Amino acid sequence: MVAEWAGASPKESPFGTAEGWRTGTVYIRPRVPPAVPPRAPAGSTLFRGALLVTQDPTRRVLRGDLRVEDGRIAAVGAVGKSRADTEVDASQYAIVPGFVNTHTHVAMSPLRGIADDRDLGGFLERLFAIDARRGEPDVEAGAALGIAEMLLSGTTSFLDLYYLEDAVARAVERLGIRGFLGWAVLDPALTTQKGIPVENARSFIGRWKDHERVTPLAAPQGVYVCSEETWLQTRDLARATGTLCHFHLSETRREVHELQEKVGDRPAAWLERIGFLGPGMVAAHGVWLTRREIETLARRQVGIAHCASSNLKLAVGGVAPVVELRAAGVRVGLGTDSVASNNSLSMLREMHVAGLLQKHHRWDAGALPAQTLLDLATVEGAYLVGRGMDLGSLEVGKQADLVLFRLDHPTLTPARPEAIVSHLAYAASEEAVDSVYVGGECVVRHRALVREPWSGIHAAAERTADALWSG
Ligand SMILES: [Zn+2]
Repeated sequence: MVAEWAGASPKESPFGTAEGWRTGTVYIRPRVPPAVPPRAPAGSTLFRGALLVTQDPTRRVLRGDLRVEDGRIAAVGAVGKSRADTEVDASQYAIVPGFVNTHTHVAMSPLRGIADDRDLGGFLERLFAIDARRGEPDVEAGAALGIAEMLLSGTTSFLDLYYLEDAVARAVERLGIRGFLGWAVLDPALTTQKGIPVENARSFIGRWKDHERVTPLAAPQGVYVCSEETWLQTRDLARATGTLCHFHLSETRREVHELQEKVGDRPAAWLERIGFLGPGMVAAHGVWLTRREIETLARRQVGIAHCASSNLKLAVGGVAPVVELRAAGVRVGLGTDSVASNNSLSMLREMHVAGLLQKHHRWDAGALPAQTLLDLATVEGAYLVGRGMDLGSLEVGKQADLVLFRLDHPTLTPARPEAIVSHLAYAASEEAVDSVYVGGECVVRHRALVREPWSGIHAAAERTADALWSG
């Protein structure tokens, strides 16, 4: 069987018409999905003649075939005349590993634009007041909006930090992305959560531990709302359950100075002093770090989610020492942060901004080259969330988390193999993402979500925004 979209010509593009294609004015064309979503990845799929951006250990880019069996990659390169249950003529596409967004708060998506043009202090003041009155239905509607945006821009995994994560997990299961979901932990006296946050995190992990697309974890909010006891309780929970730990770290100078006044140490140094840091941890931001703190993070195998756009927009004043972190052996991924501070969840934009920021700041056009940016967005991000052996590249045995980019899109032209990595890092539009697979299952086909129509997600998000913005 040949997949229904295999022969689509540019005239039948997701942009609708040739006119729309030229002008790029049509952004999302909702389509009615099939009555029964084709979610079962069992069986085999063969993508013929694609430009494969493998992200394998030698970073090969080659013209060839990609075979998927039972949700995993079974062959990369020429597969000869072998047949498959489904065959796709992929000669007009680049196939790229799905992006891994290593820091976000996806449920905040209906709050895009609500707290612009203010620093982190003013931003949090506005957002905390809204967070306090949210319930599960609107968190789920917000998460579905964010997940739709991520899938449509090529992200197949994300690391989240929020509360009411059961609602986020349900949105993950509805739309078919992979969610690494961190339940926000902070001091009981400072939270609006019902019950004790660390215990809420423990229950959440228990409820979702063995789900295929949901990976639960605990997520301390930051040193400004977590006492030593809270940090250590969360560390113990992560150790006992074998889960990741995700937290904000050294985002602003204010955070650093206030902690120094309180305990006499900077955040990373203090977390080391109290015995918190260890493997399986991902710290978001890490803007204000000393050389000694960088060495500590490397020694403790703590990863950093670099959020360039959010840092720039909130004017945190510094630039995360990404080059020094990597030189010291710290794994770095890219994160968008929420749309309230970015204001996009696109990893394509994030690669672009992260690259430009380091080059400009360091007076070095060679800093964070295109290949490194793509590494951070794929393989490095996969290692950050503990799945480097299973996600992040096109290699035999790994999950078939794939993004098909249209090679005839203006932003991927000229579609030369030696330029494709550059196009992805610096030029590609989200509109060039045609189809997306998670674990071999097609979740976006021709820019339309497969499992649910966009129209319902959109309507629910608008209703949620109406309630949140009016308060
Ligand atoms: Zn954040």
